[in-house]
Amino acid sequence: MTKPGTARRVFDPLLNELVAERDTSSERIRAKLTDAYDWCLCELCWRSTEYATAVGARKFFKRPRRENAHAAPLTDAIRVEAQKEADALVARYERAWKGEFGPYEPGRMVATYCDIVEMRGDCSVEAFREHVEQRALIAAWARHSNLLAVTRLPGQPKGAAKPSKLYCEAHNPRRSDEARRAYQRDKRFAPQYNELIEKIWTEQAGNLLAWDIEAHVHVKREAYRQLQVHKSPTRLIDDLLAQGTMSQAEIARQLGVSRQAVSAAIKRRSQKPMAID
Ligand SMILES: [Zn+2]
Repeated sequence: MTKPGTARRVFDPLLNELVAERDTSSERIRAKLTDAYDWCLCELCWRSTEYATAVGARKFFKRPRRENAHAAPLTDAIRVEAQKEADALVARYERAWKGEFGPYEPGRMVATYCDIVEMRGDCSVEAFREHVEQRALIAAWARHSNLLAVTRLPGQPKGAAKPSKLYCEAHNPRRSDEARRAYQRDKRFAPQYNELIEKIWTEQAGNLLAWDIEAHVHVKREAYRQLQVHKSPTRLIDDLLAQGTMSQAEIARQLGVSRQAVSAAIKRRSQKPMAID
């Protein structure tokens, strides 16, 4: 593990070069980032991690000597350069499909140049082209500027906490008081949450496409919804009812569940507490 605040050189496959990264990347975070589907989803809910959001909003900057950095424009010259590179790769991919470089080359090229999650199992030449064009553009753009590491979320002020690789904006304990409370509230139930995720995958195995990121989001969202209702229906709903002014619909909105689920949970209050099984 690198000491906090220590800069290290890491290879960025997108840019094809070493970049300095100040990071505490623990084993846990590294393990998460290597999971093709889970890397971009919050540990405690179905939303994107702050990091995934920030990566999507990556911008390129130029820093002329000591002046302040400014955003680097995407020029026609960069586009032409990127297009040339993409065309060459697509041509090679077509030849690879014809078996020119051996049986494993198409797969190797997809693994090297594309995002398998985004490809969603479509390894056609068209899909390859689409992904490679996008990547080549980013790489060419970066060559004409300095890529700043993903240090801030869009719209976040200077000095704000670094985008979390584990949690979404609503669950990052360093983001705000509200997010810290949500984190503390849901962290305790993380084992049950993961159990629910497993359970839903098993139950719906026939209907879910394991290679589709949307299926992963759907399962996590559903597990989160079930957890909110199951996790302490009496106390949670009692608390909200005690505030007096809240309708069932408002409670439902607060808990992120349906009104029917709240109504069912209120009915269950008289019965024995439910456990997740
Ligand atoms: Zn979250």
